[in-house]
Amino acid sequence: MAEVTVVETAQQVRELVSAWRSVQQTVALVPTMGNLHRGHMSLARLARDIADRVVMSIYVNPTQFGEGEDFGAYPRTPGEDLRRIEAAGTVDALFVPSHDEIYPFGLEQAVRIAMPAISRELCGAHRPGHFDGVVTVVARLLNIVQPDAIVLGEKDYQQLVIIERMVEDLHIPVRVVAGSIERDQDGLALSSRNRYLSSTERNLAPQLHEALENASQALLRGEDDYDRIARRAAAILEDVGFKVDYIEIRDAGDLSRPNGRHEPHDLVVLGAAWLGRARLIDNVRL
Ligand code: AMP
Repeated sequence: MAEVTVVETAQQVRELVSAWRSVQQTVALVPTMGNLHRGHMSLARLARDIADRVVMSIYVNPTQFGEGEDFGAYPRTPGEDLRRIEAAGTVDALFVPSHDEIYPFGLEQAVRIAMPAISRELCGAHRPGHFDGVVTVVARLLNIVQPDAIVLGEKDYQQLVIIERMVEDLHIPVRVVAGSIERDQDGLALSSRNRYLSSTERNLAPQLHEALENASQALLRGEDDYDRIARRAAAILEDVGFKVDYIEIRDAGDLSRPNGRHEPHDLVVLGAAWLGRARLIDNVRL
C-alpha cells in the first residue's frame, strides 16, 4: 500500500506541487467526481506512466449539474475511494476540496467560462449549461494544481474535445492526454451512474455499446448515409426500452458534422440514452 497525501486546500496542493517541481519532477492531474471504478484507476495508471507525480482530485462540481439533475443523489463514497487509491499505489496526492475552496466567492458570484456552440450540441443539447460548468471547474483545477498534463477519459468524448478546445483557446500551458474506455465484460462502459440501474436494466445496458458498435461496423463496410445508420441504432434501442437522447456520427477530431469526404477512420459514433433513471453515455471511435 502506497502512501497517499490527502489535501483539502488549494494552498496545500500548491505547496506539494512546488516541492516536486523544485526537484524537476513532472505532475499529471486526474480530475474525477469520485465513486472510483476501474476506469478512473486506468487514468491514474496512465498519469503515472507519463509523469513523475500524480494528483487525483475528487470533487462533485455543482455548476455542471442542471436543475432537476442528480447532484444530490450522485454517489459519494470517500472511504472506499481512498482505500482503492491506496491499494493501487498510482496516486501521490488526493485533492478533496470543499466548495469554498473551488468557488471562493460562492456559486452565484463565481467567474464562469462560456463555451461556444460545440457545448450546446450532443449531450449539451440535453444538459443546458453542463459543459460550461465542466470547463469552469477544470480551469480552476488546472490553475490550482498547475500540472504538466491533465488525463481525461475517452468515455466522456465530448467533454474531452471541449476541454482540449478550452485549453488551446485560453492558452493554458498543459498537455491533454486521453485514456481509453474501460468496460465490463459484456461491453457496458464503467460509470458511477451504472449503480442507478435495476438488475433488468443492467442486463439491457450493454446494448447501447452494441448499437454504437454496429453503427461503426456499417460505416466501415462503406455505408455513408449517416442519418440512416444513426436512426437505425436509435430505433433498436427504443424498441428494447431505452429512451434515446441522441445517436450521432461526428468528426472524431472536433465533433463537427461529417461531410461526404470523411474516411471512416476520422469518425466517432456517440450516443446517450436513458434506462430508467440512469443516463448512459458511450462512444465508439472508428
Ligand atoms: P467522472 O468521475 O465520471 O467525472 O470521470 C472522471 C474521469 O474519468 C473523466 O475523465 C472520465 O472520462 C473518466 N472515466 C469515466 N468512466 C470511464 C471509463 N469507463 N473508462 C475510462 N475513463 C473513464
